[in-house]
Amino acid sequence: MTEETGKELVKRWVRPAIRELSAYHVQEAEGLIKLDAMENPYRWPEALREEWLGLLRTAEVNRYPHPQAPGVKAALRESMAIPAEAELVLGNGSDELIQMIAMTLGGAGRTILSVEPSFVMYRMIATFLGMDYVGVPLQTDDFNLDLEVLLAAVERHRPAVIFLAYPNNPTGNLFDEAALLRIIEAAPGLVVVDEAYAPFTDASFLPRLGRYDNLVVMRTLSKMGLAGLRLGLLAGPAVWLREIEKTRLPYNINILTQLSVAFALRHREVFDTQTAAIREAREAMFEAFQTRKDMEPFPSEANFILLRLTRDRVADVHRALRDRGVLVKLMHGSHPLLEDCLRVTVGTPGENLAMLDAFDEVL
Ligand SMILES: *Cc1c(COP(=O)(O)O)cnc(C)c1O
Repeated sequence: MTEETGKELVKRWVRPAIRELSAYHVQEAEGLIKLDAMENPYRWPEALREEWLGLLRTAEVNRYPHPQAPGVKAALRESMAIPAEAELVLGNGSDELIQMIAMTLGGAGRTILSVEPSFVMYRMIATFLGMDYVGVPLQTDDFNLDLEVLLAAVERHRPAVIFLAYPNNPTGNLFDEAALLRIIEAAPGLVVVDEAYAPFTDASFLPRLGRYDNLVVMRTLSKMGLAGLRLGLLAGPAVWLREIEKTRLPYNINILTQLSVAFALRHREVFDTQTAAIREAREAMFEAFQTRKDMEPFPSEANFILLRLTRDRVADVHRALRDRGVLVKLMHGSHPLLEDCLRVTVGTPGENLAMLDAFDEVL
């Protein structure tokens, strides 16, 4: 087999929609101050790490993990105050839950609808499954929902699923609550409120579960500080979740994740302290951005801040920051509303100062 025949086979058999995609790109971060991926910058206290390692020693990795992960579910219910009547489905990260939802409700001729700019996986997973995707632009000035346009799009496309990130990534804002409720009421299918950034805001749709037939809430432990474990959860009415659960691969939550998550949530105060520090640092960072000329930060309820450069060339600034050891995310080019924008994850106070210094050198 030559490379040529391989290419021909690929061209013949790999679906055009997949061939046209570019793979999800992760920037090389070795040795850099990593403010590009909304990770919690803090490690666990040493004593806690020791206790955790002791627990991992008991893991029977020769056995399959528990298929339902009941220990994880109980810990999540308690720590997130999931309404008792809500059912739970666990995913290998909430990315996998998006995929499971799409597999359950999707297929050719069906539509996933979201807003733009927002989390790119909604569109990507629609493409993976050969579904139609509709991205309704947010308002230009404040990235809020454009309710009339959105309602018209829902009416016209009759989406099987609507994904709304609350707070939204990459813009950081919470959508207007009343507008979001109107969408839930108008939607013919399922509405997924994606609360990946719940640890950094007081707002949530969890208390509304059960009041709407078509509402589910998705969360993840990634942004709280367990990104490496890969655990997401979907909470909602049993009638929906029983169906979605059928698409879950039997052992998607591995034994190390099951043990570690249950352990971590028993020590929730550690994460609460860390996320509180991040929220505080976010406010300081926002003010610091505001006082600098030539940049416009957007208010954030998440652990990152989107900002627009008003003068310099953003790609050059992004590169110059990296040359000074600071990695942020270049949003320019990913959507027209994100022209000249960077997204900066909130780090430790020390990292944030280094980042601001780097900006001052570059701008
Ligand atoms: C980061 C993020 C996710 C994915 O989180 P994982 O649980 O790590 O897969 C989902 N939704 C939004 C809006 C995010 O920003």
